[in-house]
Amino acid sequence: MLPAIQGGPHPAVEEFKKRTQRRIGDLRCPDHHQPPRVRFLGATLRDVTVHMSGCCDKLIQLANRKIAEQ
Ligand SMILES: [Zn+2]
Repeated sequence: MLPAIQGGPHPAVEEFKKRTQRRIGDLRCPDHHQPPRVRFLGATLRDVTVHMSGCCDKLIQLANRKIAEQ
């Protein structure tokens, strides 16, 4: 684990965001054909949380599963 960089942009967080967006990719709800909306809260990798919203729970579950994939 690399030491955290203080007072600047956090590359690890940016990397996490990019990776998460990539995993979601062009996912669409199978019922409503809507993409999920993803928001990131928190400035450090320890604090960052992903807030998912979408047309229905099914889409949110699909998106969460994508993010959890290795
Ligand atoms: Zn839906």
